[in-house]
Amino acid sequence: MRSDPYLQVRWDAERLLKELGIACLPIDPMNVAERLGISLMPMPAGAGGASGMLLHVGGNFGIGYPTHVASEGFKRFSIAHEIGHYRLPGHVDAIVDPSGRHLSKAGFIADDKYEREADHFASALLMPTGPFGNELRKSADGLAGVERLATLCVTSLEATAIRYVQCTRDPVAVIRSSGAAIDYAFMSSALADIPDLEWIRSGAPLAVDTVTYRFNSDADGIRHGKRGDGSSELQDWFGGPHRQKATEEVIGLGGYGKTLTILTGIEPPDEVVDQEDERDIEEAWTPRFRK
Ligand SMILES: [Zn+2]
Repeated sequence: MRSDPYLQVRWDAERLLKELGIACLPIDPMNVAERLGISLMPMPAGAGGASGMLLHVGGNFGIGYPTHVASEGFKRFSIAHEIGHYRLPGHVDAIVDPSGRHLSKAGFIADDKYEREADHFASALLMPTGPFGNELRKSADGLAGVERLATLCVTSLEATAIRYVQCTRDPVAVIRSSGAAIDYAFMSSALADIPDLEWIRSGAPLAVDTVTYRFNSDADGIRHGKRGDGSSELQDWFGGPHRQKATEEVIGLGGYGKTLTILTGIEPPDEVVDQEDERDIEEAWTPRFRK
């Protein structure tokens, strides 16, 4: 089993919802902040490119939320991220500067440990496993399902897609790219369990045979949220010795020039692998000549 470094963080978010008796979607993080006694204030536009702000002054906590973005989903995610800093052990001491201020970069873009933890906290706070999982089971696969879940949770497509990958039982991947390079990729556990696939590094080049590669040459299409789909080979993304077909869906994420790709419908490996028994796996993956 791989260990998930953010399991505890997500559990902390879900425990907070339990404490507050909140179980229905959508989760309103402004309500959560108010009930924790945290003041909310709109942040001045710009604010050094920060997504949000945590203030700790004279024993009181405040959250500054962004007003420079039109997206309600991003605003809610930013507030939930700051609640993460308020709530997670060690965060306030580590991140608040001597003037009592922390500026955030929310949205799975920062490599900083505290920012990452607050992102995963926000993700689980807005999309808790129980209600999110129930709705996921009623949703279509791929982009249509992610769009339905994003509407129900009032979350961005990108944040919802990442949570979808964490909660689905199917082999699924979500990739964000810009131009010819991959920003990040998330694999579902069922996908990561397929032997011999490689983890995608940030900055890795997109394979030219993918729908995403062609899609990314149309900057206007990305800005206007155009979409595309087609058939893809899992190998073009994750390497490995076997050719496996997948459905590739692509959508432009608007003004900031990024593309979201969702891979679903991934065929099982050519060889039948009994995953119950490691010796069987070893045997199955030993090269053999076919008659
Ligand atoms: Zn932060």
